[in-house]
This record gives sequence, structure tokens and C-alpha cells, in this order.
Amino acid sequence: MKPLGSTRREFIAVTGMATLGFLLSEKAHSQQSTKINNMNNASYIGYVDGKYVLPPLPYAYDALEPLMDEATVRLHHDKHHAAYVAGANAAAEKLQEIADGKLDASATTPNVRNLSFHASGHALHTIFWTNMTPTPKAGPEGPLKEAIIKKFGSVDNMIKVFKAATIGVEGSGWGILGLDPISKTLVICGAEKHQNIEIPGLVPLLVCDVWEHAYYLKHQNNRAAFVEDFMKLVNWDDVEQRYLAAIGK
Ligand code: MN
Repeated sequence: MKPLGSTRREFIAVTGMATLGFLLSEKAHSQQSTKINNMNNASYIGYVDGKYVLPPLPYAYDALEPLMDEATVRLHHDKHHAAYVAGANAAAEKLQEIADGKLDASATTPNVRNLSFHASGHALHTIFWTNMTPTPKAGPEGPLKEAIIKKFGSVDNMIKVFKAATIGVEGSGWGILGLDPISKTLVICGAEKHQNIEIPGLVPLLVCDVWEHAYYLKHQNNRAAFVEDFMKLVNWDDVEQRYLAAIGK
């Protein structure tokens, strides 16, 4: 028997949707095997050969200075993100032991919760790093821009709503611009912790981490200033690629 999660469908079934249904379109997934080591594309999922893996940053630790400081990026990636990867693997292994009859099934719920938390954290961080670039362009273009204007009236207004939603996340969580899989329209929402995404099945396109570990060293308690700085680093090319993948183009 293959390990649980060894295929994408099982992976989604195991982790639950709010978790990871959002990772990829089918098309993007089909491209994944050839691009697995290149995280500068929308199909990278940080899961190789049955294990969650920490992707390398697509830029140097200090590349986002001065808006995002090297110390924060280093700790955030090497310690926090790495811990989610380790936690996801540990939970997945426990669930496999249950599946194999080596561990009592009563351990299912806490381990599913652990997997949901850690794998969701891993997935969102993987998107977060690629959502930023040291060389951002002015704004979104093409079909993404058209979709933003259709929904929000203008790019500026979308950004205003995104900032407000992100700053307004209660406690630790994320601001997310994503594609609602039902209406196929863009939505902005929040996620508490990692796994509690407000729109079921949402495909995240642009995510901003507002856990304090993302900004406390540099911005202290000023989450709004951090979100402002994050918006100056947005890799719109990456967000555009994710949008095209999400709508199956
Ligand atoms: Mn984080």
C-alpha cells in the first residue's frame, strides 16, 4: 500500500480542503513533476516523494531589505516554515501508522488536526515566499488585472480591501486574495492560524502572513506598517501565474 498522501488526491483528502485543495489546479499539477525543483512557478507544492519538503527561498535572505529584514526572513524560513514541514511529516507518519494498524484509530482526530495545521502552514508559506520579489513590477497585468477590475473596480481598491482584511485578521493568520472555486471570481478573506480559511476550497493567489513572527523584529507591533511594506514587494508575475493556473489557463 502506498503511503497516505502519496497522490495529490489522497493528499487533499487527508489534509482536508480548507487545507490543501487550494494548492494547485489539475493543469498546474501535471506540470509539477518537471518543475519540482524550480519554485519560481505557480505549481511548486513543497511535496516530493511522499514527504513535505522545505523549498529554498527564491532569493537571498537579505534580498528583500530594507522592507523585510534579513534576520526575520532567515528565522521565518529556516525555523518557522521548517517547523511546519517537520510537523506535517510527523502527523502524516502517525496517520500512516493508524492506517497500517500499528497505532490505535482513536489517535486519528488529533493527528488530522496536526496535519491540517502544519500542512496548511507549509502550503501558505510556500506561496508567501514566491509572492515576493526583490524586483517587483508596478502592478498586475493581463487576465488577473481584468479580473481584479471586474470584481473590485480597480487595482487600487483591491489593494485597499486586501490591506484592510489582512490587518484585520484576529490573532495569528493570513490575508488572502484567492479564487473562489464555486463562483470562479476573486475574493479577499482571512485565515485564522493557517487552516481556518474563511472561503471553503479557496485557491490562494496572494497571501500575507500576519503571524507576529513575520514582522515583530522589525515592525514590532505595527502590523499595518508591515502589510504596507509587504505590498511593495509583491511579485505580480507570480500572482498572475497562480491566477492562470487556478482558472485552468
Ligand atoms: Mn509565518
